[in-house]
Amino acid sequence: MKQRLQKLIAAAGLTSRRRAEEWIANGRVTVNGRVAELGAQADPDKDRILVDNRPLPQAEEPVCVLLHKPVGYVTSRRDPQGRPVVTDLLGKFRARLFPVGRLDLNTEGLLLLTNDGDLAWRLSHPSHEVCKTYLVRVQGSLSCEARRQLQEGVLLEEGVTAPAKVARVRQAGSHTWMELSIHEGRNRQVRRMCEAVGCPVSRLKRIRYAFLDLGDLRPGQHRQLSRNEVARLK
Ligand code: URA
Repeated sequence: MKQRLQKLIAAAGLTSRRRAEEWIANGRVTVNGRVAELGAQADPDKDRILVDNRPLPQAEEPVCVLLHKPVGYVTSRRDPQGRPVVTDLLGKFRARLFPVGRLDLNTEGLLLLTNDGDLAWRLSHPSHEVCKTYLVRVQGSLSCEARRQLQEGVLLEEGVTAPAKVARVRQAGSHTWMELSIHEGRNRQVRRMCEAVGCPVSRLKRIRYAFLDLGDLRPGQHRQLSRNEVARLK
């Protein structure tokens, strides 16, 4: 059956639909030897579709996995420095999935991985506004002023952050624990926000992503999301 090329490319797990459109517009996709135009359709069973002169891989069953990422793992499929990467932890899913967004090397917690380029793109896009909650340990105490700034927006290099939610603040000795919820996904956002209000982060764990939490998963363990859970994420 004929389908739009960008849909076939995304379904094959190569990239998102949006980026596939760019590839088509840039002339990187051919159908039966001819450069495809944006909007073109093809039948994966009958037409020969090439991206950068390589055949389209077989479309895969979409899979989404929730991993409890341990500290010390790089959020990537490969690391040039040879450090352990999150896909090392995925058993039979290892070869197929790529991470949705990223957690720092020293951050643990909930990380989604998928072979569904569209889902990954949508979840990472700021307009999707997925709520992410972090358990944060900061050095010292959290002053009222620091809490107010986190809640109203913190000035970072690239601009002011959207208001965050701060909950369950409790001081324990020389540290303070809190739950911080944000909707954006800037690079090292939580660490930079806390640093900017004078509270350097000493531990960081993502405990919720949209409606998902870690449940009983221990660091290094993963589970496949059900179809229903994936549908709720879309
Ligand atoms: N914010 C950070 O600073 N680090 C992470 O890993 C995730 C969010």
